[in-house]
Order: sequence, then C-alpha cells, then structure tokens
Amino acid sequence: MTEMIRKYTSEIGDDDDGKQVLLYGWIHEVRDLGGVAFALLRDREGIIQITCPKKRSPEIIKKLRKVRRESVVKVIGEVKKEPKAPGGFEVLPDEFEVLNEADAPLPLDVVEKVPAELDTRLDARFLDLRKPRVQAIFRVRHQMIQSARAFLSEEGFIEVQTPKIVSTATEGGTELFPISYFEREAFLNQSPQLYKQVLMGAGLEKVFEIGPIFRAEEHNTVRHLNEAISIDIEQSFTDHEGVMKVLERLVSRVYSDVVENCEKYLDWIEVELEVPEIPFQRITYDEAIEIIKRKGEEIVWGDDFSTPALKTLSEEVDGHYFIVDWPTEIKPFYAMPYENEPEISKTFDLMAGSLELASGAQRVHIYDLLVRKIGEKGLNPDSFEFYLSAFRYGMPPHAGWGLGADRLLMSILKLKNIREAVIFPRDRNRLTP
Ligand code: ATP
Ligand code: MG
Repeated sequence: MTEMIRKYTSEIGDDDDGKQVLLYGWIHEVRDLGGVAFALLRDREGIIQITCPKKRSPEIIKKLRKVRRESVVKVIGEVKKEPKAPGGFEVLPDEFEVLNEADAPLPLDVVEKVPAELDTRLDARFLDLRKPRVQAIFRVRHQMIQSARAFLSEEGFIEVQTPKIVSTATEGGTELFPISYFEREAFLNQSPQLYKQVLMGAGLEKVFEIGPIFRAEEHNTVRHLNEAISIDIEQSFTDHEGVMKVLERLVSRVYSDVVENCEKYLDWIEVELEVPEIPFQRITYDEAIEIIKRKGEEIVWGDDFSTPALKTLSEEVDGHYFIVDWPTEIKPFYAMPYENEPEISKTFDLMAGSLELASGAQRVHIYDLLVRKIGEKGLNPDSFEFYLSAFRYGMPPHAGWGLGADRLLMSILKLKNIREAVIFPRDRNRLTP
C-alpha cells in the first residue's frame, strides 16, 4: 500500500471530491444524532466535518460517540462536497484512530461559548492557543517578524545578536533585573542600545537585532511587559530623519505583507487592516504640548507625556505619527542635542494613536560630549568603559531606533492588552507558564 500524504483541512478542495484523504487533528466537537454522528476535526489551518452514518461503519460511529473533546485523532476517509458543512466539504471516515485521548473536564473551553478571562486563558495557554482566533494572532506575528527581517536584510542591514546578560545598565534607573553571575552581580539587558553603537564603531554600518529586552517596571499596564521583544536598528552616516524613513517604510511593509499573506488569519481574528500611508505625519514635542494644553490637560514643557495626555493628543493627531525634537533632559544620554539649541535633541517617538511603538534618535558620537552627558545623568562613566572606548578610535555619526514588536502587533491587530500579543507573557504577577 502506498503511503498517503497528510492534508491540512484547508487544503481540501474540489479536486479531492470522491477521493481518500488522511487528516490529523483535534476533536473540536461531536454531535450524535443516533443514525449519524458528526465530529468537527480541527487542525492548525481550519475545521472540517467528519460525518459517520451508522451503516457506513458501526465500529467508527461507536468510537466517535465515545471520543472526548480535544483528543488527538487520525482520520482516513472519503471527501464529499457538502454545502451545509463548514468549509463546504465533509469526510466520510473509513479509519478513525484516537492517537491520544484528552482528559475531561478541560481546564479551558476551546469552543469558547462563554469567553474566559485573560488570566484564566493565560494559565491554560496551550489550550487557549488551540482557538483559531488566538492561533491566528501568532500567525500574523510570524509574518510581522518575517517581514521586518526581510525588509531590513534587503535594505542592507546585518542581523546581529548581542548579550542579554550584562554588567551595566543601558540607561541606569531602576528598571533592571539583577541576576547572580557566579561571584558577581549582573543584569538582564534593558536594550541592545550600547552594543549596537559599539558595532557602529566596529564599522558594520547597518545592523539590526530582533531580541528580548527586560524591564523591571513595577507598573502593570495593558502595554507593558517585563520581557518584551524589540526590533532594533542602528545605522552609520545618517541622522534621525534618515532612520525615521527606514522605520516608516518598515511599518508600511509589515502591514502590506500581513494584508497580502494573512487574509485568512485576519478573518479569524475579525479585524480589517488598512496599510498606513507614508510618510507619517511629524509633529514636534512643542506642538504636542500646545495641543494637549489647548485641550485643557495640565502639562508643562519638559514633562514626559502621561497616558491621559497621549489619549488627548491622539484625539487630534490620527493614526501613525512621529513626535520629534524632544527636550534633551528627558531623553537618554546617548541622544544627540541640536548644535544650536542643545536643550532640544534629535529624537523621535513613533506613535500609533496613543500607543508608543518606537523611540529613536541620532546618537552622540563625540567622545567628550558622551562622557559629559553620562555624568550629567548621574551615571559613572567608568562603568561604561567597554562602550566609551569604541568612541575614541573613529566612531562614525549614526542613528537608530527600537521598535516594540509586541506593541506593533498589538496595534496592527487592535488588541486591547499587550499580553494577547505574546505567547507566554511575563508581567508583574506572571512567571508561568
Ligand atoms: P514607555 O514610555 O511606553 O514605557 P519606553 O520609552 O520606556 O516605553 P523605550 O526604552 O523607548 O521604551 O523602548 C523602545 C520601544 O520598546 C518602546 O517604544 C516600546 O515599543 C518597546 N518597549 C519598551 N518597554 C516595553 C515594555 N515594558 N513592554 C513592552 N514593550 C516595551
Ligand atoms: Mg521610548
């Protein structure tokens, strides 16, 4: 006997009508009408109806009646066009094998007649992920990461991986997770920033990294994680404007790839996308402050934008936009001040409505200025030696940004909570699964 090739439910079409197919999947639901039993078999690409009339196989119908929901099965059967079945086809089984029986009751209802709380869903994430809608989020995430990687590679960026166990804070502050590293204290890295810059000193010119960043932020919000994935770039011989253009083109590319390749998954999620038009609007920090003030919100020059302030701003400025030229004071030490107006810096945030997606800047590439700025932030230049030495022997001017991948997905799919965009999120209260 020749080996049959396994098909996904979504691959079954007119050509299969009357033919035998081999399917693997999970039992989504069973309905027993006495003379005939129906099961829905679900695999990662969809759902198909298995129809078993008693007279076709008394043995299989017996097995079907008994099988528990979410058990893993193998089915060989004949495909028949059936307009009333989901997807327009049904399979009449000639072989039905339970490969692994599921326990009952299930800790989470995969059919989801009653929507569960996010926490309950995350506790039983492996079951939650069996829901087509939930799995679809991660198919889009896969596309998003693939697109970002392809786009940056095509633009001449070299993908790198930098250490996540580090000896110094990127920016100081309290957002660090200390870990014990043999007899020393070390930290989980907050950002690849310093390493990306060292690689500019190494002459790589254009690098990107897609990797984890760790932030020991105490606050529990719908847009913060303690472990996030950032898409980071650094580019030599350019300024903040240069890398803003790369960023908006990347976002636009991700959207168009998702629209083109993920139609089915967007349907499952029930979301419609429009590819945002580039260039994105640029507003200055000063203009943003004016708008917020005008709308009656209390804010003074030099403040960072609070969540309510950003909400107010997003009522006036729609979709994707850049906030540029921030006060030097509230941006990290590596942000380049304007020569003629050093209290303003060559910095930007990319926003989607009221959500910050990315932050970037032209960087300080001048050793003396950098040492001074590290000191001004209350940090000790001695602990930045590995970083600073790269600035003494030929550091080109450069710029870059960090884009939160989880936030980008959250905004593309209009998810209410960033945790939905992450398979196994880490937050203030969650360390498992
Ligand atoms: P926020 O002000 O929203 O807390 P941030 O300005 O501290 O963010 P950056 O240091 O600018 O964050 O990091 C670059 C990008 O990485 C952010 O724009 C965001 O998309 C993402 N990011 C940073 N921190 C987190 C986090 N805790 N959870 C999820 N994404 C994050
Ligand atoms: Mg930021």
